[in-house]
Amino acid sequence: MKIQVIEDILQIFFPKLCLICEYPLFENEVFACTICRHDLPVLFFKDASKNEISRKFYGRIPLEEANTLLSFSKEGKTKKLIHELKYNGNENIGNFLGNWIGELLIENKQFTEVDFIVPVPLHPKKLKKRGYNQLTKFGERVSFYLNKPLKQNILLKIDTTKTQTFKQRFERFENNELKFSLQDTTIFANKHILLIDDVLTTGATLEACCKELRKAPNIKISILTMSFTR
Ligand SMILES: [Zn+2]
Repeated sequence: MKIQVIEDILQIFFPKLCLICEYPLFENEVFACTICRHDLPVLFFKDASKNEISRKFYGRIPLEEANTLLSFSKEGKTKKLIHELKYNGNENIGNFLGNWIGELLIENKQFTEVDFIVPVPLHPKKLKKRGYNQLTKFGERVSFYLNKPLKQNILLKIDTTKTQTFKQRFERFENNELKFSLQDTTIFANKHILLIDDVLTTGATLEACCKELRKAPNIKISILTMSFTR
């Protein structure tokens, strides 16, 4: 039997469902049905140098440009999509979101000056458990559209638990989440880095990454996220 026929039969008995509303998908739909896609709360800012996101970092980190794709809320469709990407193995949602924002970046001539795209790194244990960094596919698509390389192993999240005593581990539990390490300060020296993340809420993670990145002399930083909690 041809693969298409098998797929059609499977779709009748075990239909692929929209990841957001859970209704069966049509043949030409992937991840989300057309209705849910149209309902996703797009937040992309026309001006990347001055907007709600750049304001969030005022007085914390100097940024060149900042933008996001979707608005994130506790009960919203964006949350469902990001949850599927991070916790349910749907890694290709990163491609979908990356292509979407890539088109918008080209159309609006944003982030044209960046040299490298750098994802917020995952803790090694999380990476092992999940099997992928949820930002890799997204970063690859953004890299394709901007025609700038994705650099994944220069900024790392470090495992501080190994070198700590139990007491230290307990006391520093919250800080552990924010330990990053720049492996090489020369590669990013005098470069413009586009730091990418999935959900921007308080900005604490991105701020911690930026502080570490700024160990590279004369670095410039921009931020792009899949979603933003207003
Ligand atoms: Zn749907």
